[in-house]
Amino acid sequence: MKMLEERILKDGIVAQGDVLKVSGFVNHLIDVELMDECGKELRRLYANEQIDKILTIEASGIGIACLVARHFGVPVLFAKKARSSNISNSVYTAKVASFTHGNVSDIIVSKDYLNKGDRVLIIDDFLANGCALMGLRELCRQAKAQIVGAGIIIEKEYQGGGNKLRAEGMRIESLAKIKSMSVEEGIEFC
Ligand code: 5GP
Repeated sequence: MKMLEERILKDGIVAQGDVLKVSGFVNHLIDVELMDECGKELRRLYANEQIDKILTIEASGIGIACLVARHFGVPVLFAKKARSSNISNSVYTAKVASFTHGNVSDIIVSKDYLNKGDRVLIIDDFLANGCALMGLRELCRQAKAQIVGAGIIIEKEYQGGGNKLRAEGMRIESLAKIKSMSVEEGIEFC
């Protein structure tokens, strides 16, 4: 998506450790107009699919998912990062290694809100190694919900998570796909 790529080049900051900072329009201060355009584009890409629910992961996915959900007219369910003591029989749970924090968290959703047969679109801000998507896929597997696909704002394609999951059969639509990125050379899109 041209508009998004231009904004990434203008305001994105490439940091050490393969991290792209987009705090000024995605992750901290949110450009609602731009995220709304992203929602419109994801709706166009998934126009032929019936979607019942959007699934994301806290925290940074939530705002984006809500703006995307407006275009689908469906609710947003976000997986919470749990303390182990929160995990009970009433939740589905999976483990996710955090790319940015370097730790592993348990994520949970209530069994009340993710149901058998739900047609789910997963939304997230970034796709790197694919751990967040794999965790969300695991929650859907436990619930017997069906993943229609994923919508990602920025995929760092060179990190391989997206293509691994595509090879496993997941449809993934990424609005900006980064082919290479470094502090020295900057960003190149696919
Ligand atoms: P993955 O689980 O695919 O390795 O990484 C995706 C998750 O890590 C996203 O939910 C996002 O929060 C975070 N993440 C991965 N790469 C970046 C990055 O370059 N910048 C930022 N801000 N977050 C990232």
